[in-house]
Amino acid sequence: MSVAVEKSKEMVLKAGSRMAYAGLVTGTWGNISVRVPGTNLYVVTPSGISYDRLVKSDLVIVEGGGRVIEGERKPSTELKLHLAIYHAREDVMAIMHTHSTFASAMAVAGQPLPPILEDLAQLVGGQVPVTRYARAGTPNLAAAVIEVLGQSNAVLLANHGVVGMGRTLEEALQVCMVVEKAAQVYAWASLLGQVKEIPEGEASLLRDLYLTSYGQPKHSPPARS
Ligand SMILES: [Zn+2]
Repeated sequence: MSVAVEKSKEMVLKAGSRMAYAGLVTGTWGNISVRVPGTNLYVVTPSGISYDRLVKSDLVIVEGGGRVIEGERKPSTELKLHLAIYHAREDVMAIMHTHSTFASAMAVAGQPLPPILEDLAQLVGGQVPVTRYARAGTPNLAAAVIEVLGQSNAVLLANHGVVGMGRTLEEALQVCMVVEKAAQVYAWASLLGQVKEIPEGEASLLRDLYLTSYGQPKHSPPARS
């Protein structure tokens, strides 16, 4: 397999341990995938192996139709969901699905997460939509996500969890972490009596600014410690 595939596998392993360390998943739940740049190949985590034990050879490579190209393990049960998102959104290069607590609470309440914090607005854009109920691991869940996805970088899965995505796996991880934090803040603000959203229009402006001017310029000198 190519250097790009090997690099993608390393990124998935690193993101898996960071996802588990961040407390976004419990046990073997949750899954990760990346699109191998310039190909129709995807590196996907296997079903039912905990993230602290995951090694490169456990990862599965599939093509866009879901056929396994490399790997002995069975791919994640949410493979259909991941592939449906990649097909719907060419800008998405990585996907992470977690069962984090506060995002799951929003998903149980059937409550979309409005743009209430600037980091959420930057990473996701507008509100994080919530799907209708659909059983985990089914094509019906993939369809339910595509129904509400639009240009959002995150979707709450009714009675289940959250799926986050981005231009890189690092960004997909950040999306999952920021959605979890915002869901927690939403719950606390609700207890305080009111939730004020970022004014209309401002959330999409913050998103545009993030996409066009956030971070270091591409050719900046290496940072000194
Ligand atoms: Zn799940």
